[in-house]
Amino acid sequence: MKKNISIILQILSKKYAIKKIRPHGDGISELILTILSQNTADRNSGIAFARLMNKFNSWENVSNANTQTIKEQIKIGGMSNLKSKRIKKVLQIIKKNNESYDLSFLKKMNREESLAWLTSLPGVGSKTASCVLLFAYGIQSIPVDTHVGRIVKRIGLVETNLAADDVQIALELLLQKKSYGIFHLNLIEHGRKICHAKKPLCNECVINQFCQKIK
Ligand code: SF4
Repeated sequence: MKKNISIILQILSKKYAIKKIRPHGDGISELILTILSQNTADRNSGIAFARLMNKFNSWENVSNANTQTIKEQIKIGGMSNLKSKRIKKVLQIIKKNNESYDLSFLKKMNREESLAWLTSLPGVGSKTASCVLLFAYGIQSIPVDTHVGRIVKRIGLVETNLAADDVQIALELLLQKKSYGIFHLNLIEHGRKICHAKKPLCNECVINQFCQKIK
């Protein structure tokens, strides 16, 4: 299995030419963007994030705004009632605990501590926390979103009955740590382009020889 996952990663990396992650260093923006992306398409969450920033201009202003106004800005991302309350609450907790919205202290913790800190926030699960660590600070993680979960189960890299958190643990045992983030990005690309939830394009799939679904 370890050998297969390494070969799968090599093939996908060659096809999609995704070889590196460039962490941007802005943990709080990554956190809010990932909360906005829960159960919606990336395009919509990106628009919701941009509208939030245009309207409020700072996390302090979002934190002090009423939830109805936040809700109006992020409506396009769906579940705006829940997300507006969640975002406001998360910002308030972070400010109260850290006296700022700077999350760069997470880099000084070990990965398990930083994951535990992030997942203690309301509505923040392993996927969201892992996205913050990976994309903001380059701390290797495999966020298991809908694409990653679907593809690794179809291929047979993990049991089909595993919950997302357990899929992440299983995958991280199979891969070298330095490859976690790249694996995540390549699977997302593969899910968007080839291994669709409905009607995957198995005949065009460069890793179909490894896939249990078509055996
Ligand atoms: S063979 Fe089909 S189901 Fe398997 S990974 Fe490729 S596209 Fe997905």
